[in-house]
Formats: sequence, structure tokens, C-alpha cells
Amino acid sequence: MKSQDIRSQFLTFFKNKQHDIVPSAPMVLKDDPTLMFVNSGMAPFKEYFLGNAQPKNNRITDSQKCLRVSGKHNDLEEVGYDTYHHTLFEMLGNWSFGDYFKNEAIAWAWELLTEVYGIDKNILYVTVFEGSKEDKLPMDQEAYDLWKSFISEDRILMGNKKDNFWEMGDQGPCGPCSEIHVDIRSAEEKAKVDGKTLVNMDHPQVVEIWNLVFMQYNRKANGSLEVLPQKHIDTGMGFERLCMVLQGVQSNYDTDVFTPIIREIETIANKPYGENEDVDVAIRVISDHVRAVAFSIADGQLPSNTGAGYVIRRILRRAIRYSFTFLDQKEPFIYRLVDVLSKKMGEAFPELKSQKQLIENVIKEEEQSFLRTLDQGLVLLNRIVEESNSDTISGQKAFELYDTFGFPIDLTALILREKGLQLDEAGFQSEMKKQKDRSRAASEMSTEDWIILKEDTVQEFVGYDLLETNVKITRYRKVISKKDGEMYQLVFNLTPFYAEGGGQVGDKGYLEDSHGDVVYILDTKKENNVIIHFTKNLPKDLNGTFKASVDEKQRRRTESNHTATHLLHQALREVLGVHVEQKGSAVHSKYLRFDFSHFSKMTAEELSDVENFVNARIDGKLQLQEQRSIPMQMAIDEGAIALFGEKYGDTVRTVRYGKSMELCGGTHVKNTADIWYFKIISEGAVASGIRRIEAITNDAVKAYYQDHDRAFFEIKGLLNNAQEPVKAIQNLQTENADLKKHIESLLKEKAKNLKGDLKDELTEINGVQFLAKKIDLDASGIKDLSFELGQQYDNLFLLFAAETDGKALLSCYVSKELVASKGLNASSIVRELGKFIQGGGGGQPFFATAGGKNPDGIGQALEAARGYLNS
Ligand code: ATP
Ligand code: MG
Repeated sequence: MKSQDIRSQFLTFFKNKQHDIVPSAPMVLKDDPTLMFVNSGMAPFKEYFLGNAQPKNNRITDSQKCLRVSGKHNDLEEVGYDTYHHTLFEMLGNWSFGDYFKNEAIAWAWELLTEVYGIDKNILYVTVFEGSKEDKLPMDQEAYDLWKSFISEDRILMGNKKDNFWEMGDQGPCGPCSEIHVDIRSAEEKAKVDGKTLVNMDHPQVVEIWNLVFMQYNRKANGSLEVLPQKHIDTGMGFERLCMVLQGVQSNYDTDVFTPIIREIETIANKPYGENEDVDVAIRVISDHVRAVAFSIADGQLPSNTGAGYVIRRILRRAIRYSFTFLDQKEPFIYRLVDVLSKKMGEAFPELKSQKQLIENVIKEEEQSFLRTLDQGLVLLNRIVEESNSDTISGQKAFELYDTFGFPIDLTALILREKGLQLDEAGFQSEMKKQKDRSRAASEMSTEDWIILKEDTVQEFVGYDLLETNVKITRYRKVISKKDGEMYQLVFNLTPFYAEGGGQVGDKGYLEDSHGDVVYILDTKKENNVIIHFTKNLPKDLNGTFKASVDEKQRRRTESNHTATHLLHQALREVLGVHVEQKGSAVHSKYLRFDFSHFSKMTAEELSDVENFVNARIDGKLQLQEQRSIPMQMAIDEGAIALFGEKYGDTVRTVRYGKSMELCGGTHVKNTADIWYFKIISEGAVASGIRRIEAITNDAVKAYYQDHDRAFFEIKGLLNNAQEPVKAIQNLQTENADLKKHIESLLKEKAKNLKGDLKDELTEINGVQFLAKKIDLDASGIKDLSFELGQQYDNLFLLFAAETDGKALLSCYVSKELVASKGLNASSIVRELGKFIQGGGGGQPFFATAGGKNPDGIGQALEAARGYLNS
């Protein structure tokens, strides 16, 4: 069965059991401080489990893109070495939010595997939670009894907390689980070793395929468990592992999910898969990592130096390292795999198709730059090896190479090994640890549990219409971080404060109680669906009613920039073409920033067209037309621009001004005239194929032009208030160029005269033509003069000195034959004489110069020159 069919059969099976099929959420998380990437099917539904939001249908099924490369679930180092862990994989899931529980979950899983997919039940094992003393939890008898009716009891195994109690992170929803394992070994192998003993023992052919989680608890910050108000089902089946079983192969990499990519690598690198273990590991690593990187770029997460972007860069660099070392690829090539990948998976994940070119460009550029790093690193490493006089290279040197130049430590170790040298691993690790400690100390943060004041229903955002309203605090908690110190986070029953999101900054403002006491709101952010207000202090009476006021000035300016961002987006698509896609934006009160895909620098004409386009719409006084809650599909049909990599609910908000229509939760001006004016202040590249525009609107434009005006009047003043300043500057420039020419020719003339005079001053001492003299020429004039004299006279030794702007210059010329015959060396002479002028210098044996800060020493230096000839 083809992988595509395996995926669709899963979804159809649960659709027939009244589940809604939903598309995968983006893999890169935007408003969750506890998690960078979706690492399991449940992450996008966290708010449903916590009761912060309600799904439309309490039964859902999907295939979710997951990435396990950081935090609690990190499989990165396994990938490539085993055949069943990936960085990016698809997790097939069925979900019950407070609806069905263990009974249906177990029965349906069994039906799907054994009846629909036809898996022989004699290759299956299931596990059940054995209980945990630490958490005071009993064994999961209920699950055991349910399984008993499907599978013989000797195939039901007990599992410990590590394997059979599922937790997404250190905090949050969790519960006991039952895993389903397959044993796909040959009959002979099975006869030798009982499969039961291999379950959860990292055997490549006895692997877990499906985990059914019975979500009943919430893990709190202090480690204790509380019972969730409702019970939920969360299941996750590894799609690639399921394909391995159903396609009758022994490795995920032998399924049709991977084989097309592997064939392409074999062709490009000209190395077969399956003959050499090092090569095989490299091929698996690359075929896995290219998927992870491509999907995250499609989700809008480009490789970068910080946060999620850095994780992606590291994954790609791991792939490059393996291809460099084991496939001898010294030129970029991973980007060439994107084509097969998008052909293979573009159906299920259209973002791969529509963003193919961008993905290729970004990967190629990263490859180029990292390969350059590797080249440079090799040179540096060779130098370290040459300079070292021991056969162990210090950990500190290796760390420097790693930390400053990004040169991977395993490569350092490998190269040293090949040269018969050793690396001081312990020294390296200790440097690493020091650095980690430094950065941990800088980012440490602790979050206390919420203190609930009122049971909060779903909290409402009223800030589209109101900037001020009465609120009550429903819960709060303390957070402590190195950076901000002690802060409080408050949640209200309703709020006019806009929480940072969609690129727009969070609102600031204040809370005022009935006595007029004020607490400032310093920032507003969203965690999942909850709007959190940050304060330095808690209000006195937490149970009181407060007037909540948003800082209006900041908000209005931000709105002006946000609406301008939409118009800019529209303008770019109009002027440059519809290949322009938004890749990021930042809407502040002072300026806006917009990143978009486009492949060349914008011309001055394009920039002014874009500016004019936006300003025409501002002049057009377009009224805001918004729809607060319409079905997603309807919005798309009406022409709204949706972004890949954004997570939208079932219903969305649309924001329209004339023909610009976007899905957007941000706040906007009521009429484009409120923007007043739009001005681009910069355009440049952020990454290959991604450009960035920064622009300003409103008050900021006024300030911008005022600054320019001031500068202009200053310039005019300097030009004696010339009527036509541009012309006046051009005249000055021409005049200046003429003067330069004139001076040059005067200097030449002077040098010529000087040469004539100096000839008469040469004295012969011991067969050497000698002259030491202070002259009035600049350094290059002196050099020319020296070489001209040098052409006319043999055996010449000149020491010239000059004084300009309070500094001294010595310049020494020695005919080549004197260098040899008399051992005279201009370079050492200027160095020695340099001490008289308190300076130093050098050059070549036949010509050298020195500069110094003491012109008074020139006389002594000239005096001393003669001394070199007395020997
Ligand atoms: P394992 O012990 O094999 O690492 P797990 O206990 O980490 O698996 P879960 O967190 O329960 O797995 O995830 C549910 C399912 O997702 C697993 O049964 C497996 O089929 C699949 N899965 C988990 N991690 C990976 C991975 N790194 N690559 C591919 N599939 C995975
Ligand atoms: Mg795991």
C-alpha cells in the first residue's frame, strides 16, 4: 500500500466515526513560551485540554507534522544511526475532547490495525501503565481489562512511568497511556528470542507504533498532579513506522516516504545506499534532515542565529557535516533534494510546492556559507596543529574553533585522529559547560502556579472597540527572570489590551482602582489563548474592579503602522508580482518592518511606485471593513490572503480596505486617512530570496521630514544661502577637483626642483652616496623622489625626514647593491632611528618608513644616520 493511501485510510476511518479531519497545524509555534516546535500531535490542541477554548467538534482526526529536536523530546542524535527515529515525522491522531474515553479509543485502534490495515495480531504487543508510587497512582486496570478482550494476556505488558505515562513538557496536561508495539522480525529470529523481552528495548524491528494517551491530569509547576475537569483521548501513531509495517520492510528509510529522496542522493553523490555503514548513516541523516529543514522554512522559520531558527540551522549543518565527511560533497547539494521532496509530499502539504524556490534558495545559501566555514576551519585547524608542539590539541583551542567559527567538534576530532593526533575532550567539555552555565544564568526564569481568584470563562478581547473598560482580575502568578527581575502576570475577565501577536506589539497602559491607585501594564502577551498582562506590582485589592486603560497614543501609532503594512503587502504584489509572500512582520508604534519573498534588490523606481501606491490608498480615505468571525473557507473564497505557517481557528477575522483583504487579528485604523502618510526608509536583504522593507507613517513621517528640513537648512546656511544648493554643491565639487589637480602638479614641480638641489648635496663617504635631510614633501612625494634618485645613482643611502601636522616621518632608501655589500637594511634602520621620533615602522631592506609623534627628534635621527656608514 502506498504511503498516501495509508494516510488517507487512517483519516477516513475516523471520519466515519464522526471525527472532523483537520489539516496539520504549523510545526513552528508562535505563542507558546514553553515549546519551540510541535513535538506531538497534541501540542496544537493544548488549549482544548486545558479548557481555555472549545473545539467546534469534540472529535478530531489529523496528521500532524512533529519535530523532536529540542527540549523534553529530543531524538536528534539518534537520527541516522537507527532506522525508526526522525527529526520531522508525521503523527496520525484521533482526538476526543471530553467525549469518548478508553473504551472506544482501544476498540477503534484495534479495529483499524487488524481489520482495516490487516495487521496480524500475532505480531502485536500492548503495554499498560503499572502505576507510580511517586505520583500515588494505581495501575491502569481499566485499560488492561479492555485490552484483554482483543489480545491474549501474555501479549499485554506492564510499563513504567517513563514509557507509559505521557507528558508533553514539565507542566501541562498528561496521563497514563497504552502503547502498541510491532515485532517484524523473521520467524527464525522470533524462535530464538521471545519478542516480549524486546519491547521497549530499542530493537530496530520491535518498535512502538501507536500510543493511546488517556489524558486525565494536569502537571503543576510544583510537580504535583491535579485532575482535569474532563477526560480526553490523545493518540499518536508514527506514520513512517506504520508505513514500514504495512509495506513489509525493515526500516522507515525503505518505505516510499524516503526511497525517492535516497535514490536522488545516491545519484548526485554517486554512492550506493546499503554497502557501507558510514555512507548509509550519512544518507539517512541527509534524507531525514532535508525534510525537517524544508518544512520549517515553509512554515516561515528560516535558519538563523537565535531560538527556533538556530535549531533549524543546526539540523541543516548536521546534514552538511555528514555529506562533507562521508559523501565527499564539497559543493552545495542538499538543496537539490527539495525538488523530489516537494513532488512526493506536495499533495499532502501544499506549502512545500508553493514555496519550493524559496526553500531551495535558503538551503543553498546556508550550504554555501557553512561550507566556507568548514574550509576556513580546516585552515585554522591546520595552523593550530602546526603551532602546537604536543600531540594533544588543547580543548580550549578546539572550543575557540567551535565557538567563534562554528567549526564542529566532531569534525575537529576526526581530522586530528586522521593526523595521528588527539583532542583534549575533557578540556573541550569543560569549556562547553562554562559557556552553558553562563547562558543559563542569563536566561533563568521561574514561573509559579496560577492563583485563581475567579473561575474564568473564556476571556474576551474588547480592544477592537474600546480602549478603556472596567475589568476584574481572574488569576495571577509571579514570574522571576534574570532579565526582568520579579514580575506579575495578570489575567482579566475581559480586556481592552491587545496581546502581542501577528507581528503587532502588545499594548501598554494602566489599571486604576476605585481609590485612584494605579498599576502600570508594561506589556501584554498571549500564552496559547490566554491574554496575559505584565506588571511590576500587584494592585492592593486583587478582588476589586479596575478601570483598565490602554496607552492611546502608542496604540494609534501602532494601528497606523499595521494598516500600512497591509497596504504595503498589497502594493508589493501589485508592483513586483504575486510571487511576493509575507515572511514576517513587526508592527511597532514607531515603525513597521515587512519581510517578503522576492529575488532581487528593488529599484528606486519600484520603491517609489510602492510608496505612491500606498499613499494613493491613504488619500483615497478607505474605510475599514471587518468581519470578526467568518468561516475560514468563506474568507479565502472572498479573496483574503492567508499565510502558510499561521494557525487559524475554524472562524477567522478579515480586515479589508478597498481591495486589500487579509486574515488578521491585529488592530487597525478606522480609515486609511488616519495613516496620514507612508514613507519607506530602507530596503535590503535578510536572507537569500527574502527582502525587508522598513517604513514609517503618521507622526514619525513628520519627525523624519523635520529632521531632513533641519539638515537642509544647515547645508544651505553653509552654502551662504545659495538659491540653488544642489548646483552650489556641484560647483564646489568641480572646484575641489580642479584644485586637487593643481596641487598635484605643483608638488611634482617642487619635487623636480628639489631633486636638482639635492643632487648637489650628496656626499660620498666610504664609496656610498649619502644624504640625510629634512624636506618639505609628503610621504608619497618622498618615496617618488627617493626612487628617482635611486635610478640615477648607484650606492645610494638616503634618509629623508618630514614633519606634517605635528607628526614626524622618516624614510630610508638603500640601493640594492648596498644591502648586499654593506649589510645596510632600511627596515632595521628606520626601526632603530624611529626611537628618536618616538615611533616605529618598517618595510623592506631597500625602502622603509617610520612615523612618530616627536618631530623634535628629527635632527637627532638625521645626525645618527651617518653612523651607519662609519664601519
Ligand atoms: P520511542 O520510544 O520509540 O522514541 P515515544 O515513546 O517517544 O517513542 P510517543 O511520544 O508516544 O513516542 O509518540 C507517539 C508515536 O510517534 C510513537 O508511537 C511512534 O510511532 C512515533 N514517534 C515518536 N518519536 C518518533 C520519531 N522521532 N520519529 C518517528 N516516529 C516517532
Ligand atoms: Mg521517544
